[in-house]
Amino acid sequence: MERLQKVIAQAGVTSRRKAEQLIKEGKVKVNGKVVTELGTKVSPNQKIEVNGIPVEREEPVYFLFYKPTGVISSVKDDKGRKTVIDYFGEIEQRVFPVGRLDYDTSGILILTNDGDFANLLMHPRYHVEKVYVAKIEGIPTKETIIKLQKGVQLDDGKTSKAKARILSIDKKKKRAIVELTIHEGKNRQVRRMFDAVGHPVMKLKRERYGFLDLQGLNPGEFRELKPIEVKHLR
Ligand code: URA
Repeated sequence: MERLQKVIAQAGVTSRRKAEQLIKEGKVKVNGKVVTELGTKVSPNQKIEVNGIPVEREEPVYFLFYKPTGVISSVKDDKGRKTVIDYFGEIEQRVFPVGRLDYDTSGILILTNDGDFANLLMHPRYHVEKVYVAKIEGIPTKETIIKLQKGVQLDDGKTSKAKARILSIDKKKKRAIVELTIHEGKNRQVRRMFDAVGHPVMKLKRERYGFLDLQGLNPGEFRELKPIEVKHLR
């Protein structure tokens, strides 16, 4: 048995908060009857309708995917490019990615069919640590690393404090590998941060998402998250 607002949010109809509002407004039916009580618990076989539209309920599933480069992080692509969903053909549930990685970025991506869980992870107040490893043009100075750590000014505001450290330097080719740990998820944030300090990114990988890493996975492979891992992320 689960709370009605959670089931509605999990199905991806709307957020939990908006589902509560809909329940209070008498827009939600359980087995054909209007329910306005917020704490109402429902079992998997009960029929739920929101604004007269049946809610499609699926068993919630959670995956950790090693996204390769050259793959788009959306469910569909207008240009017919390969999407992350193409890797999940054998999964009967309709999963979608939680947030996104650029077409040219590889690394860790969570996919689920649980809209409630996805909303939580993508909420600006949810400060999970994301670790990126970037191959950049040029060799950054100590001052540049400090700038990245303190936060840099982007078009849409200053970035928050971050961790940054040089992993290796190629003096001949004038390139460096830098690890950057951020808590936010602005669009193309890592690439824009490096652009802002004059070191364009040549290659980018997300190595860690909170306590999750890519151990045991090759690009294009995924594994199911353990219930304990899902619980820790919530
Ligand atoms: N920052 C980027 O610039 N790209 C990503 O894919 C993720 C974070």
